[in-house]
Amino acid sequence: MMATAALCLDLDDTLWPVGPAIIGAEAAAVEFLARYYPHVAAQNTIADMRAWRLRVAIEHPARGHDLTWLRQEALRQQAVAAGCGPAEAERMAAATFEVFFAARHAVEPYAEVAEALERLAAAFPLYALSNGNAELERTPLGGYFRAAFSARGLGVAKPDRAAFLAVVKAAGIAPQAMLHVGDDPQADVHGAQQAGLRTAWIHRGQQHWPEALPRADHEFADLGGLADYLLGPV
Ligand SMILES: [Mg+2]
Repeated sequence: MMATAALCLDLDDTLWPVGPAIIGAEAAAVEFLARYYPHVAAQNTIADMRAWRLRVAIEHPARGHDLTWLRQEALRQQAVAAGCGPAEAERMAAATFEVFFAARHAVEPYAEVAEALERLAAAFPLYALSNGNAELERTPLGGYFRAAFSARGLGVAKPDRAAFLAVVKAAGIAPQAMLHVGDDPQADVHGAQQAGLRTAWIHRGQQHWPEALPRADHEFADLGGLADYLLGPV
């Protein structure tokens, strides 16, 4: 087996729980609307916002890798439905998205993550690969990574092999020398396996492996387990 030369890490639900960050960001967006666009806010609860976003995602499957576009387009359509003209709707969507996006980066990493990344980054180049739209450098963990890749930037989302191969290419190593680390059995583990990477599944003691999929090379409850395995316990 080829030795690990670099690590590729998923972000959402691997380094931090994404649910609380999204809920906080949606609340911030609704608050912003209530303050500056009350006529739009009147028909715009968090539930409405989610429903619009879902509808736009279903109508535009080709944009599924671009969560920023989907959310901004949903906001624009909501503004038009509330009676805004095209230019005002564009402005409202851009401004509201900025508020959402700033709050979306107020992520709280899982307790062990910063220390584990510090240990791992001292031994391996770390790359990030996310289907989400968080910008790693806007979070407290940006400094540990050599580079960050997103589905939006690549134009292709995990589990597509092309997403993983882009990271492997940037690292300048063979796919088997890259260990991909993530929480999602399909998007992370299965996708990385298809691209020839080795895999580590982070399950947080809460997920069960779907029986239909081949298992990951490694399974850890958290990133501390991964660091101990690769580097030996502290
Ligand atoms: Mg994830």
